[in-house]
Amino acid sequence: MTLHLHNTLTGRKEEFRPIEPGVARLYTCGPTVWHYSHVGNFRSFLFYDLLRRHLRVSGYRVEHVMNITDVDDRIIEQAAAAGMTISEFTRPYVEAFLEDLHALRAQDAERYPRATGHVEEMIALIERLMEGGHAYDVDGDVYFRIASFPPYGSLSHLDRAGLRAGARVATDKYEKESATDFALWKRAKAEDERVGAAWEAPFGRGRPGWHIECSAMAMQYLGETLDIHAGGVDLLFPHHENEIAQSEAATGRQFARYWVHSEHVTDATGAKMSKSDGNFTTLRELRAAGHDPVAVRLFLLGNAHYRAPLRLTDEGLEGAAAQLRRLRDFADRVRRSRPGLRTDDAALFESTQDARSAYRAALDDDLNLPEGLGVVFELVREANAALDADRVGPAAREALLALLEDVDAHLDVLREEEVALDVAVERLIAEREEARRSRDFATADRIRDELRERGIVLEDSRDGVRWKVAQR
Ligand SMILES: [Zn+2]
Repeated sequence: MTLHLHNTLTGRKEEFRPIEPGVARLYTCGPTVWHYSHVGNFRSFLFYDLLRRHLRVSGYRVEHVMNITDVDDRIIEQAAAAGMTISEFTRPYVEAFLEDLHALRAQDAERYPRATGHVEEMIALIERLMEGGHAYDVDGDVYFRIASFPPYGSLSHLDRAGLRAGARVATDKYEKESATDFALWKRAKAEDERVGAAWEAPFGRGRPGWHIECSAMAMQYLGETLDIHAGGVDLLFPHHENEIAQSEAATGRQFARYWVHSEHVTDATGAKMSKSDGNFTTLRELRAAGHDPVAVRLFLLGNAHYRAPLRLTDEGLEGAAAQLRRLRDFADRVRRSRPGLRTDDAALFESTQDARSAYRAALDDDLNLPEGLGVVFELVREANAALDADRVGPAAREALLALLEDVDAHLDVLREEEVALDVAVERLIAEREEARRSRDFATADRIRDELRERGIVLEDSRDGVRWKVAQR
């Protein structure tokens, strides 16, 4: 079995085949930093993490880019109200976003480009669209002409008969019914100038629309055709539809081969969590209420398939915390077990091997982690009974440890917050010191990389080597 993903473009599960063998180029829509990201946003971000981890487990080198939107209508409005520039206003929210992401143990993307750092690339893309007749200027505002791009609407299955040629929409978010020419560039208003949200462009001072930013940054770092583009399902229309239109109209090539979308988080009453509606819970609020972010991670990833809605409830969070304890207790128990020369329980060994295959198959089947975890918890029950009866021999123990390693490659929940340096790591640090003393820097660097793989970061200082556990 190889990785299959549900591709929104075709509405089918398809085998994942990257453009370049062995490399997966992944673009994921990141946060708009006008507030703290809420649990619904983090469900998407953890879905990206699951995807990226499973691509790595499957042997791909992953090039993952996640944008940070640090200029948009709401940011400008809020910064103006606070009497700040947009960069002053967004800075703490960018920091909070990365902090929360690390608390949830998401692996870092290779890049987190910011919109305000890529306005030049956006202007260049808009110029290219204007040259091709796909965009036009109306008194300093620039719009994309959807009539110039016949496939418009194919991702979201838009009924093109309803499109109103020549009508325009200036806001970045709108309903399908209002699909019309959309803004690529917005002429600077006095408020934009006051908060530092205006740039020079051949078509006049102004600022980019939201949609153009993702096209420009994705192509800048990943090339004109990406392997996978991911986002929350609420971005499907108009954002992703517009990304496709802008990119493909400019390049004449397919923009992304696989489009994958994660579903909403709803509140306890079933209403969609949304910042704009004021109906949301932040990770900070959950932490303040005593919830462990690692349990929140397990809840968001493990409780429902990414394409099914997920209801945030106290019972759900408590259930995840209980699962976390069970998994950690079990891992401890297996690690501490000393099978010695005991004869293996052949049945347990068999079912552990079967569970490993079934777990892997579930992940390959459109990242069905909940199904995979179901298999794992089933096995935990069986193995706990075998441990109680002292029936776990060396082969079964090894197989159980391998299974836990497989599972934690996605979950990353087994390590406790304070990781003690174990003997092996201490030995490696000593070896590296030895290599440095004898000026064997190649060996020293290799050991540093090996430690990094284990999540340990070394810092060379005047007083010797310091280490810390990397935030992954
Ligand atoms: Zn985007």
